[in-house]
Amino acid sequence: MAAICVYLGSRPGNSPAYQQAAVRLGELIGQRGHSLVYGGARVGLMGELANSVMAHGGQVVGVMPDHLVEREQAHLELNELIRVSNMHERKACMADLSDAFIALPGGIGTLEELFETWTWRYLELHHKPLGLLNTERFYQPLMTFLDSTVNAGFLASETRAQLLDAATPEAMIEQIEARLTHG
Ligand code: AMP
Repeated sequence: MAAICVYLGSRPGNSPAYQQAAVRLGELIGQRGHSLVYGGARVGLMGELANSVMAHGGQVVGVMPDHLVEREQAHLELNELIRVSNMHERKACMADLSDAFIALPGGIGTLEELFETWTWRYLELHHKPLGLLNTERFYQPLMTFLDSTVNAGFLASETRAQLLDAATPEAMIEQIEARLTHG
């Protein structure tokens, strides 16, 4: 059983597949006895995921900076809502509480959180698994760009390989679970 941190859009996105992926990932987290750590919002994919985890028996911890409580509509029915004073504290708190990280489709907030977590791993500040849920190939252009960053000599292929990816929530959870078990 693991605490899984998920970064994802505060908007729903334009394809129903994004929402379906968030709901399905929530179902798997709850059913497999894991817990969710996320940004604590009620809106967009974030709210869909949190509600799905709780509906399937999982615990949910949200981490929300005071200034976003209204703008992102803090989810007040979570098992725990941790209020912090700024974005730096939010990311540090989410990372400390979690055993693994998954990014679903999202915007620049999602990308920022994913990249900071990945750079912390690259700098050996942690060794926790992280991955992209590539729903409807949303992250394909980013993955292509990262591969070209390796080819251009700015990113080590071992570092590139740290970022897992999967097309479905099932495959993503299985990859994360395998790394939690075997390191
Ligand atoms: P978005 O992917 O832009 O919809 O944002 C998803 C979540 O990331 C929202 O809860 C944002 O508040 C959050 N976010 C945006 N920028 C940052 C940041 N610099 N540090 C931590 N979280 C952020």
